Amino acid sequence: MKHSPNSPILLTSSLHVDEARKAISQLVNELIEESKAIGDLADIETVSLDQAINRILANDLLSPIDVPAADNSAMDGYAFDSTCLGVSDATVSLKIMGTAFAGKPYEGKINPGKCLKIMTGAVMPAGCDTVIPQEFTSTQTETQIEFPQNQLKPGENRRLRGEDLQEGKPAISAGRLLRPSDLGLAASLGISTLIVKRKLKVAILSSGDELRSLDQPLDAGSIYDSNRYSLTGLLNRLNLEIIDCGIVRDDPASLKKAFIDAATKADVLISSGGVSVGEADFTKQIMQELGDVGFWKIAMRPGRPMAFGILKPVAGKSPARKTLFFGLPGNPVAVMVTFYQFVRSALLQLNGANQTEPPITQAISEAAIRKKPGRTEFQRAILGRNADGRPSVRLTGSQGAGILRSMSEANCFVILAHDQGNIAAGDWVDVALFDGLL
Ligand code: AMP
Ligand code: MG
Repeated sequence: MKHSPNSPILLTSSLHVDEARKAISQLVNELIEESKAIGDLADIETVSLDQAINRILANDLLSPIDVPAADNSAMDGYAFDSTCLGVSDATVSLKIMGTAFAGKPYEGKINPGKCLKIMTGAVMPAGCDTVIPQEFTSTQTETQIEFPQNQLKPGENRRLRGEDLQEGKPAISAGRLLRPSDLGLAASLGISTLIVKRKLKVAILSSGDELRSLDQPLDAGSIYDSNRYSLTGLLNRLNLEIIDCGIVRDDPASLKKAFIDAATKADVLISSGGVSVGEADFTKQIMQELGDVGFWKIAMRPGRPMAFGILKPVAGKSPARKTLFFGLPGNPVAVMVTFYQFVRSALLQLNGANQTEPPITQAISEAAIRKKPGRTEFQRAILGRNADGRPSVRLTGSQGAGILRSMSEANCFVILAHDQGNIAAGDWVDVALFDGLL
């Protein structure tokens, strides 16, 4: 079955979440392939470490050095030659020859029967291969330590040169969505800049006659546009370039103009609103002129209607490239759920990330949850611990698709799979944490 956005099968039946994800991934792949000829999507740039968070590493980062650069001590204790160790509890007595500090190595060699007081991170002196932690010695004076022969094994508490990273080997692989630990790792190698994929340009707009911007008064029947702000927050987590195209009225001419304008500037356009059954016909008509966009009914809750496809290269756009289009539902929670489920992975994939799926964990449901088989559900919940100390989740109040408060109070989604039925209290459920993602 070909999952082109307008495949009739996708229009007539409810689409499984996994099928929708597959179709999106395929189209993104096609876009990447097409853009290879143009080169633009593959562009790279050099950024300093403090700008690199959440960017995508363009090439493998090779370590210029061994880390650690020398064998060193993992503990505060005494370094010595392990030939004195054995299986009995006979006492070993070692004479203390001096002290090695981190950053201030001991120059001499330590012979058998002697030892060196050593601090964590200090270079192991010549002649030593093992460190006994201070607290494991039975007797300690200024000049002597004692401990039983079988107190530890040869090589213990020594970190080996190159144990962390070897010179010339990849320290971070191409395609990594750079996290704080990656920046620290690069710094530990003396690397101050990284080569990353260029920032994706993502346009966002809200459509609906009822929407008001925050500086406008609320007249009867109108509401503030919240989606652009939650979307901005979501996109900022991915450190990309956001092009805010504002609020667009529900009339074909304005919508068409706004879409063309966004397609001129952006790699991806994300709109919200205007794709539900009552309004889709109107948006569909414009999309037929501007691109190839499918109007999907996805078997999920919240977030059932969604439009997805491409906008054709607009006249004058250079390079002449298509724009990926997501028409998300208007409901504020549905926007965030569909972003999490479909848009985030697509943006990462388009930008060359090698890992696009957010991690899923499991927790015990504190209460029963009603669930009909035949659709994937995303319930807002708080992950914590139950009385036994095990991970547990409880739902946050009303789960309506428009109720942002349930989202704001939550720290995770409970994801109930397509075929899943009711959940009993005490059942394990899949959980996706917001932190770092949403
Ligand atoms: P629609 O998908 O356009 O039918 O919108 C579904 C619901 O979401 C309606 O109640 C809209 O008023 C609401 N909605 C649409 N867009 C936004 C927005 N940008 N901010 C807040 N609510 C919205
Ligand atoms: Mg609307």
